[in-house]
Amino acid sequence: MTLLMDRLAALAQITDGDGLTRLFLSPAHARAAALVRSWAEAAGLTTHIDAIGNVVGRNNVPGPRLILGSHIDTVRNAGWYDGNYGVVAAIEALRRCKDLPFGVEVIAFGDEEGVRFPKTLSGSRAIAGIFDPAALAGQDSDGIIMADALKNFGGDPDGVAGVARDPGGTLGYVEIHIEQGPVLEAKNLPAGIVTAINGASRFRATITGAAGHAGTVPMALRRDALSAAAECCLAVEAAARAQPDVVGTVGAMTVRPGAPNSIPGDVSFSIDLRAPRDAARHAAAQKIELAFAGIAAARGVGFTLETTHEAPATPCAPWLQTQLAAAAGAQGIAPFHLPSGAGHDAMAVASLCPVGMVFIRCAGGISHTPEESITGEDAETGVRILTSFLQNFSPEPKNV
Ligand SMILES: [Zn+2]
Repeated sequence: MTLLMDRLAALAQITDGDGLTRLFLSPAHARAAALVRSWAEAAGLTTHIDAIGNVVGRNNVPGPRLILGSHIDTVRNAGWYDGNYGVVAAIEALRRCKDLPFGVEVIAFGDEEGVRFPKTLSGSRAIAGIFDPAALAGQDSDGIIMADALKNFGGDPDGVAGVARDPGGTLGYVEIHIEQGPVLEAKNLPAGIVTAINGASRFRATITGAAGHAGTVPMALRRDALSAAAECCLAVEAAARAQPDVVGTVGAMTVRPGAPNSIPGDVSFSIDLRAPRDAARHAAAQKIELAFAGIAAARGVGFTLETTHEAPATPCAPWLQTQLAAAAGAQGIAPFHLPSGAGHDAMAVASLCPVGMVFIRCAGGISHTPEESITGEDAETGVRILTSFLQNFSPEPKNV
């Protein structure tokens, strides 16, 4: 076992119960934060835990800082590597590059998964200066108010605004994370550079046909809402497939009346669309609406399409992608760029400064379960990429 894998195994033992379950501001979160802080101290960093519960470690170089980070909260019955790997890897990379000529800090965020309270990304939003104080009034399933949980943790609800970083004093943010998808494994690559965190649109579609007796209504006289919906599902798939990096999913459907001997009269279903570029996502949405109109007209059914969620994509800064790709190249890894299908703290930090992300391969692309797995070799490769990136880092070129 390497130091990295040992540390990840040690963190995985710190749980509130139910496998690895470490929710924001829980007792296990406090213990994990203390352990991570001790590792950051041992790496030569000056540390503190801030008002919102982030573990922060800094070198002592004055001036603008580069931020490295990821999260140490988990979903329920989680894997060992989601978030935790990025924190452990960043601390290890900083331990290996003690004499950097620029300011750098590592942050272990505490609320990336958003499992406990209604709002999410509290730690990274606070750093970015976009934390909504109303979130402090949110309650968990036991009725515990976030502000009280934060005080209990040792944080300070009144001090959250004070942890916001100054954009002028921040050079950028870089996060290394497991891919949580199957692309790198399929490409036989240990690591890849993230182009953007996908934006997402969600819709509720409703098809209204005519219910009827499954035995008595001839086929030619039917207006079957489910048959129309089935064609709509294929139209969603086709619209997503038509453009690279767009993914589209119909994941939930309700059929009414929903009986074996009834013609479906009314069907509603979800559509989830994601893409690294907002324009591509919007184009796919338009294509879907047009296709639905054609299907509805041909089948004599009505349809409505309602937007239920809309989040823009977070592009990764091209200059950070270039430097991260060079660092991967220095490890002999062919430059490969891919979008992130999952959300990350970098989405919030992007409103503070340019962001960049590196993904490392995980087995089967599986995450958010105890089966989540990475190799010690890939974990080490990720640290080497970060180390090389730090040693060659040059701030964003201005005025070009
Ligand atoms: Zn994560």
